[in-house]
Amino acid sequence: MGRHFLQIPGPTDVPDRVLRAIARPTIDHRGPAFARLAGEVLERLQAVFRTRHPVIVYPSSGTGAWEAALVNTLSPGDRVLAFETGHFSALWCAMAARLGLVVDLVPGDWRHGADPGAIAERLTAAHAAVMVVHNETSTGVRSRIPEIRAAVDRTGHSPLLLVDTISSLGSMDYRHDEWGVDVSVGCSQKGLMLPPGIGLNAVSPKALAHRGRLPRSYWDWEPVIAANRDGFFPYTPPTNLLYGLRESLVMLLEEEGLSEVFRRHDRHAEATRRAVRAWGLEVVCADEREHSSSLTAVLTPDGHDADAVRRLVLERYDMSLGTGLGRLAGRAFRIGHLGHFNDLTLAGTLSGVEMGLRAAGVPIEEVGVRAALARLEESA
Ligand SMILES: *Cc1c(COP(=O)(O)O)cnc(C)c1O
Repeated sequence: MGRHFLQIPGPTDVPDRVLRAIARPTIDHRGPAFARLAGEVLERLQAVFRTRHPVIVYPSSGTGAWEAALVNTLSPGDRVLAFETGHFSALWCAMAARLGLVVDLVPGDWRHGADPGAIAERLTAAHAAVMVVHNETSTGVRSRIPEIRAAVDRTGHSPLLLVDTISSLGSMDYRHDEWGVDVSVGCSQKGLMLPPGIGLNAVSPKALAHRGRLPRSYWDWEPVIAANRDGFFPYTPPTNLLYGLRESLVMLLEEEGLSEVFRRHDRHAEATRRAVRAWGLEVVCADEREHSSSLTAVLTPDGHDADAVRRLVLERYDMSLGTGLGRLAGRAFRIGHLGHFNDLTLAGTLSGVEMGLRAAGVPIEEVGVRAALARLEESA
């Protein structure tokens, strides 16, 4: 009984009113009612990416939108500079290599964001693009995109800047135009509070002008942008998800407002870190400037399996936590605190984690929840 706590960092809990919006009759995607829906959604998507330029909507996962970013802009054999920030950056790089790009990878320890200092050393005129994951969902580390942009500009080279904002869009400050990003990659099931099924690309004029020669058909931006001018798509769009997206964008942009959305996530992330430190545990992120506000990855002490903690929390308290991915498997679990989430959701979430850690025999100080609540009270 009671509601399941879906505290993985995506898919996130979908608000009831978004579910209700989705549960409407599917309409003719070539009719006038659909054109109005598409127009409203596309305009609000520009606001959430903070761009005046086109946003492309795909019926896809985030992974599809990654592919779209690469195949629209790059050519076979192009060099790209990328950073090993964690599991998601590694997956995106592997995709780039499979598509025939040459990936120069700046190694990393999975506890830091992309290093702006490495750009001066590594970026050359031969690089067609720089790829960065803004919020590395496997580690809870945020890369400093404005500093990366400035470092790129200082080199005098002009690669495209491709940024994955999948787990930060709609929960952490992100500015496509102001930060000089060329392609921003997003999707539906994280901060936008929707089920999975929509992939997004926000594209700069420079990216639109820089058409690569990698083969593309379904992912080609041009037919989508052309059809979108009249509110349509070159293929069947995910009509019901777009109803839901219109609802969630109204909630984020018009009812709460983006700056308040970001403040709420910052506050919950800070309270979560207070809890982790009060338990005597360590967060994965090792740089104070780089904490994620949408999730926190927590290291378990040596000899304590993080997945055993997750299993107990699911069995006893009906809460899903994120597993350790890649090299953090078994060593870390992740607490998602993004999307449809408030102070009492955080209190319930951290209570479940504290009880789960105790049940799994992880040695902790039993004052984590208290420390988080104190932080919420003083910042209310
Ligand atoms: C979730 C996620 C992805 C992958 O999205 P899918 O919808 O599972 O394909 C990529 N990058 C980041 C940072 C993510 O959090």
